Amino acid sequence: MFKADLCKLCGDCLVKCQWMEADKAQAVDWMKAMTSGQQTPVLSQCITCFACNEYCPQKANPFDLIAALQEKYDVFASKEAARLQEAAYAFNKPLTGYPTAPRIMSTCVFDKTHPHLMQGEIYDLPRASGKPYFCWMLFGHWGIESIQRDHAREMVDRLAMTGAEEIVCFHDDCYAMLATLAPGYGIDVPFRPVHLSEHLVMHLRNNRHRIKPLNIDIAYQRPCASHYTPEKEHFLDELFQLAGVRRVSRTYDRVDAMCCASIMLLLGNGDPVPYQEKNVLDSRRNGAQAMVCLCPGCMDGMAAVAAANRMPVIFLGDLARMALGEIEVPSLDDGAG
Ligand code: SF4
Ligand code: SF4
Repeated sequence: MFKADLCKLCGDCLVKCQWMEADKAQAVDWMKAMTSGQQTPVLSQCITCFACNEYCPQKANPFDLIAALQEKYDVFASKEAARLQEAAYAFNKPLTGYPTAPRIMSTCVFDKTHPHLMQGEIYDLPRASGKPYFCWMLFGHWGIESIQRDHAREMVDRLAMTGAEEIVCFHDDCYAMLATLAPGYGIDVPFRPVHLSEHLVMHLRNNRHRIKPLNIDIAYQRPCASHYTPEKEHFLDELFQLAGVRRVSRTYDRVDAMCCASIMLLLGNGDPVPYQEKNVLDSRRNGAQAMVCLCPGCMDGMAAVAAANRMPVIFLGDLARMALGEIEVPSLDDGAG
């Protein structure tokens, strides 16, 4: 939720935004207008990357204000289209056949769409997968945040039915929902959400004797949802260190990470390719031999531009499997240039 009492109307969130041109005076004007509930060009230029919530030094959550206005003014989706999409994703039957174990993995909808990314011993734990456990963050990305909020409790309650004490989230969005958004909506989460990077770190720590350091330089493609959960970043760094890879320092990483931009196609507010090229070239310029993605959506969205620029894209979990010798490292160049 936007915290108007914390906002100093400094405009820094919009000045820093990578997806619109706003100088300080313009940004302040737009923020003043939006805090009064008015429509501004920000609403349609925003690609819903969540970054400004992390940029704001006051922790006022400016994206939450933008999202509320995007919905109020039907910027990306009409109310009718939103409800049709909501119906398509909803699960309205009694839940049966759910796993019961102290530790399970929630794979959201990726069991069906990306089964190749969850193979091997790392994923050998009971799974909660499919529509009943959908995290609904797609709707926050689509400018209709109320649908995300309305369904948050059912996601938490269904996962809680497993009785698990710890739930490993395959997808960064699910982790953001369970670790930050649901508690922010006042929902009690009666289990510990475990980020995939933490799960991978624990597995590598327990199998340290089997690791063959990969000795490669990589660019990390930090996904949008990570702006909600920056506190887990140390697990990424430890994972890279355990796998023997170096995370290159570059313009678009950590708090300044650039969204994969695929969402622009859904929102209809621009061409993602020039942004993806900037992102890949930033990786190349800083010596990366591959881009490592945590989000399968980033992998898919960046694939064509990365291939055109001879930049292999590796899933984070696959990096751990490569370090354990479970799967081959793709062919890499020396990262120069
Ligand atoms: S939301 Fe934060 S960064 Fe944006 S104007 Fe308010 S205080 Fe400044
Ligand atoms: S969510 Fe992203 S694109 Fe939208 S205003 Fe904030 S930083 Fe800019």
